[in-house]
Amino acid sequence: MQYRKIKGNNIFDGYQFVGENKVLITLANGTIEAIVNEKEAGEDVQYVDGIICPGFVNAHCHIELSHLKNAIAKHTGLVNFILDILKLRVATDEIKQDAMKLAAHELYNSGTVAVGDICNTTDSVLLKQSSKIYWHNFIEISGFSEDIADIRFENGKKIITEFSNQLQTSVYTGSKVPPSEVFRGAFSPHAPYSVSQKLFELINENAHGKTLSIHNQETLTENNFLQNKTGDFLKLYETLGIDISFFTPNAKSSLQHWLPLLSNAKKIISVHNSFTSETDILFVKQFTSLQEIYFCLCPNANLYIENTLPPVEILLKNNCNIVLGTDSYASNTQLNIFEEIKTIQKNFPTISLEKILKWATINGARALGIDDLYGSFEKGKMSGIILINDEKSFRFI
Ligand SMILES: [Zn+2]
Repeated sequence: MQYRKIKGNNIFDGYQFVGENKVLITLANGTIEAIVNEKEAGEDVQYVDGIICPGFVNAHCHIELSHLKNAIAKHTGLVNFILDILKLRVATDEIKQDAMKLAAHELYNSGTVAVGDICNTTDSVLLKQSSKIYWHNFIEISGFSEDIADIRFENGKKIITEFSNQLQTSVYTGSKVPPSEVFRGAFSPHAPYSVSQKLFELINENAHGKTLSIHNQETLTENNFLQNKTGDFLKLYETLGIDISFFTPNAKSSLQHWLPLLSNAKKIISVHNSFTSETDILFVKQFTSLQEIYFCLCPNANLYIENTLPPVEILLKNNCNIVLGTDSYASNTQLNIFEEIKTIQKNFPTISLEKILKWATINGARALGIDDLYGSFEKGKMSGIILINDEKSFRFI
């Protein structure tokens, strides 16, 4: 049997740092075998300068928006950001495909092995057919008017069918599997301010056993809109010419409004959470004894759009499951999980690197339901190996 033996300045195994004098052993194809003491590792140990870590899991990205790099002004707030996206997202297929390829390179080279990717279209299927990255596709559905719920849901179904038909060869297993089994993902509601009660019901009916993703409390206006029907979202719907006279606010915060509507989902990735309060978190704890809720932090995107940061200390204090995402090039200058880690370290210096690396590895893998293969150095996993050195992360194996 051919083995690879690697020793760095330290090894982070997906849960913790295991110490300086340890060696990671893998099979020749990168399958994790063991972590052993240096004395027991034998010969042919490869020494590298840096921390050895399992590949990162990026729990929130929109690869199909990659052509919007540097296209949208910073700090204008979420409503203006959404209007800009709607205006600017149209482009030729060539421009979109080229931009997605560059984006996937950056993800791969900086150490990302798996991505939770939001899809409004099938634009990204071609890229995903031959990608070395594991893609979990959240087919995003929106529509605030009840009248269009059926049409929007049918459209989401068509996108899943097209994904399934085109992803004939699974990059996950490397073997041919039937189209119906090749699609990895689920329908997901865009955000509480853009999905009607009826559409939430249709999504929830199809959510059994699945991981869902939802944009949550990215702006303070979101709470204002759902609680009192005030704030900037009125401007959004007015600009879009959408009549929302039917909508009556229900005095609940955004999170407390949507969580009970997704009761069938096995796991939910709540993305952004910039304006999530401790009361909201206690509500989650009380409400979801059987569901796993993951709070996804995308700090660089929050700084880009709203110039704000999520309440990380409150999430930590309440033992919340935290995962990391980059969001898209529309709201980030890079798709690099290590840059998100650095932003958290800079703004929350008391949180240890060990803790944040766990969010970026095993927690993300659990959220996407791929911890059988990814997220940690445990025997039999194909987690990928990255090297963290000199404030950068690199794909190593
Ligand atoms: Zn997003």
